[in-house]
Amino acid sequence: MNIVMMGAQGTGKGTVAGLLKEKLDIPHISTGEIFRKNIAEETELGKIATKYADEGKLVPDEVTNEMVKNRLNEADCKNGFILDGYPRNLVQAKELDKILGENGRKVDLVVHLFTPSDEIVERVMARRECPNCKKVYNMILNKPKNGEICDDCGIELIKRVDDTEEKLKTRLNIFYTETEPVIRFYRNKGVVKDEEVSVRINRLADQAAEDVIKNIQ
Ligand code: ADP
Ligand code: ZN
Repeated sequence: MNIVMMGAQGTGKGTVAGLLKEKLDIPHISTGEIFRKNIAEETELGKIATKYADEGKLVPDEVTNEMVKNRLNEADCKNGFILDGYPRNLVQAKELDKILGENGRKVDLVVHLFTPSDEIVERVMARRECPNCKKVYNMILNKPKNGEICDDCGIELIKRVDDTEEKLKTRLNIFYTETEPVIRFYRNKGVVKDEEVSVRINRLADQAAEDVIKNIQ
């Protein structure tokens, strides 16, 4: 099953993808995480990406498309994958269809997570990440056991450099103008499953994941 996660920043795409990965035994591919890893390791790709990612802007399509194409053609994606953070505009969505079409594949399911906008800002500001295992915590909704320390690694959590109010504004703006049309693109194909994630209705990412799993079995 080829799955695409869609939704604004902080809606829980990574969390849902992680749960789906365990259940379905297919890889979780987060383009943001791949870029951050390359930036940390100062690879050629990282040197290009850092200029954009640090500002909360999109890395150019040619660079991103090439990276995703290579990743999706690796052996572990043969039985499916969960894409998280791609496609983010219509150019990328059409490229994804092309990449998959070359091997007779297609997008089977788009999981669309949505959250009220005031909650989005609160969530992203409370987000912390383990620099070692990359596990994501939330200081309001999903706190580590002690202070700001990773439960598994025992080291101090960090805030992503692009998780400031100003950069989040840039990122959300790109989401509403460039990424929302992609959701419509998939809606027209009839593959979108909408899931609300919000504390107001007492529904978090794990419930959304459970619902998605129930629907595909
Ligand atoms: P966000 O919380 O803004 O969705 P991500 O972790 O998904 O952040 O991505 C971090 C950064 O990596 C983005 O701001 C962007 O610079 C880059 N990036 C990730 N995915 C893409 C993509 N599909 N196209 C272009 N740039 C991307
Ligand atoms: Zn850790």
